[in-house]
Amino acid sequence: MVYSCISQNRQENSIPKDRFKNGQKMSLTFSTNQLYYKHNQPTTEKLMRIHEDQNNSYRSKSTCGYCRETGHNQYQCPHVKGDWENFLSKWKFPVDKNGLPIKRGYNQVAWARGIGNNDALTINIYNNCFASWFRNCRKAYAVQLERGFNLAGKPKRKVPAARTCGFCGSKSHTRRNCSTMEQFLKDCYKANENWRRAAYCELVEQAGLSVGACVEVSVSEGYSRPTTQKTGIITKINWDTINVLSACTSTSSFAHSPLKVEILVNGEKRTLKNLHNKFKCLGKNGAGNGYWGVELTKVITNSPTPLPPEWITSYKESFETLVKKKTSEQLKHGMASDYSSPNIMAHIAAWK
Ligand SMILES: [Zn+2]
Ligand SMILES: [Zn+2]
Repeated sequence: MVYSCISQNRQENSIPKDRFKNGQKMSLTFSTNQLYYKHNQPTTEKLMRIHEDQNNSYRSKSTCGYCRETGHNQYQCPHVKGDWENFLSKWKFPVDKNGLPIKRGYNQVAWARGIGNNDALTINIYNNCFASWFRNCRKAYAVQLERGFNLAGKPKRKVPAARTCGFCGSKSHTRRNCSTMEQFLKDCYKANENWRRAAYCELVEQAGLSVGACVEVSVSEGYSRPTTQKTGIITKINWDTINVLSACTSTSSFAHSPLKVEILVNGEKRTLKNLHNKFKCLGKNGAGNGYWGVELTKVITNSPTPLPPEWITSYKESFETLVKKKTSEQLKHGMASDYSSPNIMAHIAAWK
């Protein structure tokens, strides 16, 4: 229904393929559904019934999005041009041979209800469905105009836009061979190595953060109630995902990289919060939004579980994803909807 032009083209152009013994072709919808229901294959009987139904009235005929007649779509609709031009020049709505407003798009219900005491225009000015007719007609008219009211022919192919680099915006190359991006990626690897060395030194060697370490934490018992000191054990640290961007001083909407430390206190799983206030290597972008968190006071005893040396150099894939998905502008200034975001380009340059 929605893709009336597509289904129509398929009906006209496609050569039936023999997918079943009796030569019936499989509907697109059904073959797609089958992917999802792999484990629940329909029986042959069911298959055949679907195909029999399809040959009769399984798929309703596509109708014009504007006039609701079958056999064409709204961009090929012969009523659009006249209706719109009558409306603009004579302030007239489409009418049937009795002079009554006729079915166009979705507005017939309201029109039918309103006819009687008032003229069609008065009724419909106050009627949402007038707006719906207006939208439908204007939209179809605009496209038809663009196609030169060539109702039979297919639209001309648009001239492809000049290729630009999705990363730096240059017209002379694409993202695939962007030297700016390549260099930035190398800088990211280097910056991340430098940061991870520093983080290892500060978090692991000096502070003694490690899974299994015994820590003292201050636990708040509720809003504006005093905190109490408790002992807990670190059960989990997300070493795998913290990276140089954890040091950014403001939070990025697409590259938030918080250090998450889970601990067990009184048999409850909690997280450490405000870690960016304790460690130099962490910025706001490296802080979790731990509302339910507890504050780390000190590490009591530490059972060192050193990270493997490759930890320093791993985590390259995420930077590759970052440069594929974002432009250099977004890396500098964040997304348009961001309130405040770190300048990731400058941050990498500072750490490389
Ligand atoms: Zn039509
Ligand atoms: Zn480029």
